[in-house]
Amino acid sequence: MPAMFKKVWAEIRKLYEWEVFNVARQDGAGVFTVASKDNNVVQVHVWCTFEEQSMNSANCDCKKLECDGIPCSHVCAVLKFLGVGTIPHCCVMVRWTMDVKAAFESDRSTNTHVWSEQMDCYRDLRNMSSLALFIASKSS
Ligand SMILES: [Zn+2]
Repeated sequence: MPAMFKKVWAEIRKLYEWEVFNVARQDGAGVFTVASKDNNVVQVHVWCTFEEQSMNSANCDCKKLECDGIPCSHVCAVLKFLGVGTIPHCCVMVRWTMDVKAAFESDRSTNTHVWSEQMDCYRDLRNMSSLALFIASKSS
């Protein structure tokens, strides 16, 4: 399970390499053209359907969701674009949902797992910096 969580995080980190280039409506679905920030010629399409405020389905050209059961960076880019704070259930295979319920940084959601990881990191950094400040304080 942690391995899967890492995989999802890798995709989430990669989402910053992509941006939503165009949004269209087709047969009741939202069609998001996602382009590489480095090279706008590289484009994939993400099809999403919505029911009321929540996302019902998401499909991407790259088929990662269908193959690996985790959202690809393109779907993540669309979720980010839409301001969705958590990965919708439709974007994760049911067996992984325990791990990736709320992986995005968002004001609206707090993921205790991510939070505790961040706090561990913060504590390490704080310890390092207080050591450095302590040494510096001894010097004139
Ligand atoms: Zn994709």
